[in-house]
Amino acid sequence: MSVRGNAVNYAGKIEIEFEVSAKVMLMCSRCIENYVEDINISSNHIFVKEGFQTDEEQEIYNGDEIDLTEIVLNEIAAELPMKPLCTTDCKGLCSVCGKNKNQAECGCKADEIDSRLQVLQKLLEDKQGGV
Ligand SMILES: [Zn+2]
Ligand SMILES: [Zn+2]
Repeated sequence: MSVRGNAVNYAGKIEIEFEVSAKVMLMCSRCIENYVEDINISSNHIFVKEGFQTDEEQEIYNGDEIDLTEIVLNEIAAELPMKPLCTTDCKGLCSVCGKNKNQAECGCKADEIDSRLQVLQKLLEDKQGGV
């Protein structure tokens, strides 16, 4: 992870700008494989000393130090996808045999067919078999 930033301090008000680039290991929500997501964030924060807050956007700091670690981690957390995908067209796991379909086509039929349709398909297959 790399963090680049600069802080400007004027009269008790500190403006911090930073850019973060990080590689985060995530688990794909379709195929449950681990993959690396690149996160790039640029953000700026305005901090004022406790008691000097003049607008909602401003954050308050106490003492002489601002702990950026938590801020950066929060920004990264906010940037993480709700449903991570290893690739946008991830094929996911086979609902029949559970194999990762990105790695190999397993040849299973009946992908995401509900039970009513499955009955229908069985009938059709039986018919075809008989011909
Ligand atoms: Zn995937
Ligand atoms: Zn399969």
